[in-house]
Amino acid sequence: MTLREKQVVFLKNFALLIIWASENGYEVTAGELFRTDEQHALNVKKGTTKAKRSKHQDRLAGDLNLFLKGVYQTTQEPYKALAVKWKSLHPSNVAGYDWGWDANHFEMT
Ligand SMILES: [Zn+2]
Repeated sequence: MTLREKQVVFLKNFALLIIWASENGYEVTAGELFRTDEQHALNVKKGTTKAKRSKHQDRLAGDLNLFLKGVYQTTQEPYKALAVKWKSLHPSNVAGYDWGWDANHFEMT
């Protein structure tokens, strides 16, 4: 599968995740999707990431901000159902939830 083909599959599944969230009582807003190399270098410099390269730079990752009853969720646990749904959409899908940090991050490896 080429990178472009993978990006198409990723974005379709990301859309399906957003629709599933909406239909199951979760409110989500858009977080980061594509990250430029320049922005990633700034993030490394600021210490907000330790990754040498992010899937965001390859258009294979997206972040969602989760709200429950209008309240922005900043802890890991509320994202669990989204992580489970995300991983069910494709065998190459990985959820930041499983890392114990970055719970709002969804990527395709
Ligand atoms: Zn992310």
